[in-house]
Amino acid sequence: MTTYLIRNAQLLGGAPQDLHLVDGVIAAIGTALDATADIEIDATGLIVLPGLVDLHTHLREPGREDAETVLTGTRAAAKGGFTAVHAMANTFPVADTAGVVEQVWRLGQESGYCDVQPVGAVTVGLEGKKLAELGAMHESAAGVRVFSDDGKCVDDAVMMRRALEYVKAFDGVVAQHAQEPRLTEGAQMNEGQVSGELGLGGWPAVAEEAIIARDVLLAAHVGSRLHICHVSTAGSVEIVRWAKAKGWDVTAEVTPHHLLLTDELVRSYDPVYKVNPPLRTAEDVQALRKALADGTIDAVATDHAPHPAEDKDCEWAVAAMGMVGLETALSVVQQTMVDTGLLNWEGVADRMSHRPARIGRLAGQGRPVSVGEPANLVLFDPAYRGAVNPDSFASRSRNTPYKGLDLPGRVHATFLRGNATVLAGELVEQGGLA
Ligand SMILES: [Zn+2]
Repeated sequence: MTTYLIRNAQLLGGAPQDLHLVDGVIAAIGTALDATADIEIDATGLIVLPGLVDLHTHLREPGREDAETVLTGTRAAAKGGFTAVHAMANTFPVADTAGVVEQVWRLGQESGYCDVQPVGAVTVGLEGKKLAELGAMHESAAGVRVFSDDGKCVDDAVMMRRALEYVKAFDGVVAQHAQEPRLTEGAQMNEGQVSGELGLGGWPAVAEEAIIARDVLLAAHVGSRLHICHVSTAGSVEIVRWAKAKGWDVTAEVTPHHLLLTDELVRSYDPVYKVNPPLRTAEDVQALRKALADGTIDAVATDHAPHPAEDKDCEWAVAAMGMVGLETALSVVQQTMVDTGLLNWEGVADRMSHRPARIGRLAGQGRPVSVGEPANLVLFDPAYRGAVNPDSFASRSRNTPYKGLDLPGRVHATFLRGNATVLAGELVEQGGLA
């Protein structure tokens, strides 16, 4: 296995250190290390972080390989600095059986770019009618611990209660896509001043907040673990803050796009801004940033949602919802959280690696950057400036809201258990299916 000597990298943004990577682990850390390696990297000015962990990725395989595959999605993840992603269950077929989650898990293993941890569906076919085989998915080779009907809300309270009770047996967690379906029928964007002016169907904040309020109470009642996907409103933050103050086992994530973009962008009628949950107001964005900074929101999760051009380059009303996000996440977090002084790089490591790994109970990911730990690392250049160019994406889809936008920072290198998946900003071809 290739050995690496990384010279003068700023450990979590701190003082420059050398790191020696041997046999998949961090063999040594120090200044002016007396060591040799096959490849030496001058990391002057680069920050070293633990490999990022995404709790919320749509890899689209099986079924929508025209949008993304496990291979293209994990290549995009590596380019974004990720060493593990959770693959959402809303594929075709739905990942609601041991067979499908094992298939996704194996494809991830074969890709070699990034660990893929399949998320299992809560209900059969995401239909909300019958609990899926949660135990069988957990016991499969994929070892599923996170369950979600994401894309749809588990809106039946009894179904949600049963799922929360069931996953307790194996320390699992239910990740809820909080969207009260009746309150969002025909909804096209955030309900507020802009939706009123544009005459588009409104998606009220209460549709999200009502489900979160119900579910934190349910989780407390049955003593189970609940995770809230893509929190998008100031009111949702207040409920999560209240639940945590009660000592309940509730965690939450926010997407990069909800940290940066607002519903004002919908005035363009460009479907690239159509997303679920919708872009909210500037006040919501400020509340989300503050909550991520103070830890009320535990993690940044991309909700990477690739769509082929034909599903996005159309009228607003019929366009698919979602944005790609793996390759821009860290840059958006730098811009919104680090450059604003809200979070330091240690905080970024916590919200994008340590905590998401803990929520997903991923062993070997989200570990400290210290000697003896698996060498899951990202080298990031925070001084880089450049316009986002979707044509350079490794993702099969191009539906980014940041096209042409100057975002700070760039992933210089990513290591998965000591194996470079990205070097000098470029993917390193892996053996597997590449
Ligand atoms: Zn969702």
